[in-house]
Amino acid sequence: MKLYNTLSRSVEELTINGGPIRIYVCGLTPQSHIHVGHTRTFVVFDVLRRFLEYSGHKVIHVQNFTDIDDKIIAKAKELGIQPSEVAEKYIQEYFEVMDKLHVLRAHYYPRVTQNIPEIIDFVNRLIDRGYAYVSDGDVYFEVRKFKDYGKLSHQKVDELIAGARVEPSEKKRNPEDFALWKSVSPSEIGWPSPWGKGRPGWHIECSTMIKKYLGDTIDIHGGGQDLIFPHHENEAAQSEALTGKPLAHHWVHVGWVTMGKVKMSKSVGNVVNLVDLLERRESNVVRLALISTHYRGPLEFDDTLLDQAEANLKRISTALFNLHQRVKKDVVDRGERLKPSPKEVLDQFLVSLGEDLDTPRALGILFEFIRTINNALSSDTLTKPDALSALETLNQMLGILGLEFKKPSVDLNTEKLIELILQLREEARMRRDYATADKIRLKLAELGIIVEDTKDGPRWRAKQ
Ligand SMILES: [Zn+2]
Ligand SMILES: [Zn+2]
Repeated sequence: MKLYNTLSRSVEELTINGGPIRIYVCGLTPQSHIHVGHTRTFVVFDVLRRFLEYSGHKVIHVQNFTDIDDKIIAKAKELGIQPSEVAEKYIQEYFEVMDKLHVLRAHYYPRVTQNIPEIIDFVNRLIDRGYAYVSDGDVYFEVRKFKDYGKLSHQKVDELIAGARVEPSEKKRNPEDFALWKSVSPSEIGWPSPWGKGRPGWHIECSTMIKKYLGDTIDIHGGGQDLIFPHHENEAAQSEALTGKPLAHHWVHVGWVTMGKVKMSKSVGNVVNLVDLLERRESNVVRLALISTHYRGPLEFDDTLLDQAEANLKRISTALFNLHQRVKKDVVDRGERLKPSPKEVLDQFLVSLGEDLDTPRALGILFEFIRTINNALSSDTLTKPDALSALETLNQMLGILGLEFKKPSVDLNTEKLIELILQLREEARMRRDYATADKIRLKLAELGIIVEDTKDGPRWRAKQ
């Protein structure tokens, strides 16, 4: 498949080396409710993973939790509990929300607090190699020692300083240097290290965990667009300074979510948290809304988007229901076939996803397919084999998108009841009591049941 690579700024074929595809996605700092901005990233990578697995690849997906940082500590103080309790609460909430959204679980969820010895070792080796220096209990990465610095975010070190995107400090040799380890006072939370008590910087955890769980070079490194600089730039610098190898072949970044055209963020205050959202909207609705535009562009999140997703889901579930009904019955084969065939539709769908994960195009193909199915149902030309393969195709597409539907079931008695009413209507027609026959048909239509008189007798289906 092809994916946009932030590093080269172009859509590139994904390098597949025969082994599993190793994906690392920067995870959550569990310090408050997960919001729609974070969720979009995780859902997009879930579709990518499902697509790769459907295409026959083995995927290893690792995603971290930054389970200690200044914000978590501040929140814990405010609530009078331990930072680990704050982190645990929001990690559990993360899993509850992601399970509801059918996001597949990663293979590993490493946490900072469980990888401190590995982080210290990584920092030590950067010092040994001359890329990092100790300063009054802190350790800094010396950016100018790493000649490729800026290659991911496409900026030069001098531009960073001019643009005030880096902060000078008395402890640093240069303003662009960043912390690998920060000292803390004896009363603060921290870990012993060769440089005294302290805590790791944010960027070093990801470099360490990637190396530990996935190796020196991974296939896809992902995250939200706002992580490109400084987080991913610094990760690449740390890892590549240590190993001399590229950290990732593909850097994939998901665009942000906006509300009123302003980026959704805690600091602006325009956040929609998922716990609240999932109380008012079905998980399929949220999931479909999040993949309805291309992952690289911004996504304007509002009720119009959710209403649209809800209406579209209704079209899918109605089609599934009608197909399930149709496969139960034999229809006289008049030689008509679905065009394009379910197989052709599935191929187009997969091609779309293979081209930089084009979910809006794939969804367009899915809904066009539903129109084709509906037309065949209305004109009563859908054969049982076509209905079966349409159903299977639809389920495969929905599986890749991670949309889940319960197998539609009208209970047996309801079905028999409808058949009985239709039988009585037939008897009315035999008596030429068309008023009664029409009344039954109209009343059933009001209940969402469409009755059609065909050469083979009356047929019913749910309203599309
Ligand atoms: Zn492939
Ligand atoms: Zn990271």
